[in-house]
Amino acid sequence: MTRAVIAFGANLGDREATIAGAVRELAATDELELVAVSPVYETPAIKDAGVDRDAPGYLNGVVIVDTQLDPHVLLDVLQRIELEHGRVREEHWGDRTLDLDLIDVAGVELADERLVLPHPRAWQRAFVLQPWLDIEPDAALTGRGPIAVLRSAATDEVVRR
Ligand code: ATP
Ligand code: CA
Ligand code: CA
Repeated sequence: MTRAVIAFGANLGDREATIAGAVRELAATDELELVAVSPVYETPAIKDAGVDRDAPGYLNGVVIVDTQLDPHVLLDVLQRIELEHGRVREEHWGDRTLDLDLIDVAGVELADERLVLPHPRAWQRAFVLQPWLDIEPDAALTGRGPIAVLRSAATDEVVRR
């Protein structure tokens, strides 16, 4: 089996219910086994121009799964679950009911028009690194190093729920 790290975020609607539903749907997916679910963090919205305190805040966290699914099939699963929760793609980094990102799949490096692994911005995001650190303290990101070190350097604001 292969270990995959998935980050979730929600800043519209009933965020807790959406996240709980998404975790349930991941757990119910064939060929995918839930290993760990992180604590949830409250984080401010970040737009192209930086932190946007006028936008609704996010709940963010991370899920670790075991799976033999190909990373692109895993992305299909994540995008299907996003759509089931009413995700509408509008502005870049816009508000959304649910965002599911593939952060890391067993350290694999790949980049095509649909998928980049590891997720290219995860290394600098406390809202990904902190919850991941909570459930896998000795993890590392390919090409970037231990997430504990990366977390220390990240400056975005995360508050444990
Ligand atoms: P960010 O990637 O900076 O977190 P975002 O999550 O808001 O931004 P989306 O609009 O959700 O971006 O996704 C845009 C596209 O990114 C998706 O259609 C998907 O094909 C692509 N993508 C590339 N790599 C990944 C990845 N590792 N995880 C999820 N989507 C990815
Ligand atoms: Ca994202
Ligand atoms: Ca996304």
